[in-house]
Amino acid sequence: MDEALKNEPQRLDLDNQPKSEGPYKDMGELRRPDDEACGFDILENFERFNQANDIYTRGQWDPRIRSEKVLNWFRGMFTPGLGAKKSDGYTVKDFALRNAGWMSTNIIIQRTRKDDRADGFLDSIEEFAPPYKDKYKVESPQEMADEIKHVCKIFGADAAGITAYDPRWHYTNSFSAKMMVEKEYGIPDDLPNVIVVLTEMSYEAVRSYPSATAGVAVGNGYSHDCNMTLTIASYIQNLGYRAVATVNDTSQGIPYAIQAGLGEYARSGLLIHQEFGPRTRIGRIHTDLPLTHDKPINFGVRDFCEVCNRCSDNCPPGAIPEGPPQEEIISQSNIVGIRKWTVEAEKCFKFWVNQGTECGVCMRICPYNKGRDTALARTYYNLWKKLANSPFRKLALWLDIKLGYGMRLKPKEWWARRRL
Ligand code: SF4
Ligand code: SF4
Repeated sequence: MDEALKNEPQRLDLDNQPKSEGPYKDMGELRRPDDEACGFDILENFERFNQANDIYTRGQWDPRIRSEKVLNWFRGMFTPGLGAKKSDGYTVKDFALRNAGWMSTNIIIQRTRKDDRADGFLDSIEEFAPPYKDKYKVESPQEMADEIKHVCKIFGADAAGITAYDPRWHYTNSFSAKMMVEKEYGIPDDLPNVIVVLTEMSYEAVRSYPSATAGVAVGNGYSHDCNMTLTIASYIQNLGYRAVATVNDTSQGIPYAIQAGLGEYARSGLLIHQEFGPRTRIGRIHTDLPLTHDKPINFGVRDFCEVCNRCSDNCPPGAIPEGPPQEEIISQSNIVGIRKWTVEAEKCFKFWVNQGTECGVCMRICPYNKGRDTALARTYYNLWKKLANSPFRKLALWLDIKLGYGMRLKPKEWWARRRL
């Protein structure tokens, strides 16, 4: 073979799988002092994740996942008629709504497609301008941390926290959807601070899962997240510091959110925030702006998940585990070397593809998913969380089911709830 061709990355396939860098070493500590407080149980065989093994990425290169149906599922994001049926929640109108929610995200992804980038998903979100030439002098990293959270709120963050760069959560490689090959991971590793921002997804829309109607909560959440992370990064660059806006593209958002004190890990594989429960999107801004860090929190989610199996019992394809956290991985789409609850990505994604849109039943059914739009609802949720974080957690679970929380709102009822 020609020498130049030999060095060309080869198209991923069953015989040319994504590379593994092997057990974690030379990148920093395997275990960190706040791992226990975060609930991270890191094993000796821990390996960083290659994004080419992500189930959505495998939907593009892996013949065991990729099919015409899967490709149509991706195409359906731009063509509302592709997944549409006559049933409630899956009509063209429902898909049109879902796709409209994704509109700003799609613009951000598409703008750098020609350069083989997918901003926000496979690549960090490209900045519009370089940092200002003079650095603003930061007298107190604590004051700057308080100030940046204030700025995050004005740009639409529903919650914000700050933590340290942690290479364990960063991908080893990314994926070129144009060439179907692995590509180099894109962001610099010398940005010491990570600002984590959460976007709350609509409670009412999430109540209608499974449906395309509910998908508006995800698309809209992503669009908001892309815009917000880019805006916050832009503010930091205007202060003369470096800032890289990221969404699903560079690292695992959930461990970073936990380290930044924004919630706990749950059986469903989702982050549980104290107010929005599992209904969150997680954006990050990596920066060298001097900032102090937040601490992880514990409000009893893990103990509650141990007595609650609602997500596992109600997951349509049975993709969520029962029992205690496990160290075994189920497929190559799972990270190796952490003892935790792990969702079967293949089963979950197959269900998504079969119904033409994503699912969020595990989000809807979770007792931490509560509306907060009235004083009564907020009071109930606050009292319920106290009960759930006490030895009476089984009573909290019983009460939740008895009161009918987590029941599906029919999509046509969602459409009928005109609030303006
Ligand atoms: S999204 Fe749906 S299919 Fe996937 S794990 Fe949650 S409930 Fe199961
Ligand atoms: S439904 Fe229950 S078990 Fe599942 S994540 Fe929520 S609290 Fe945990």
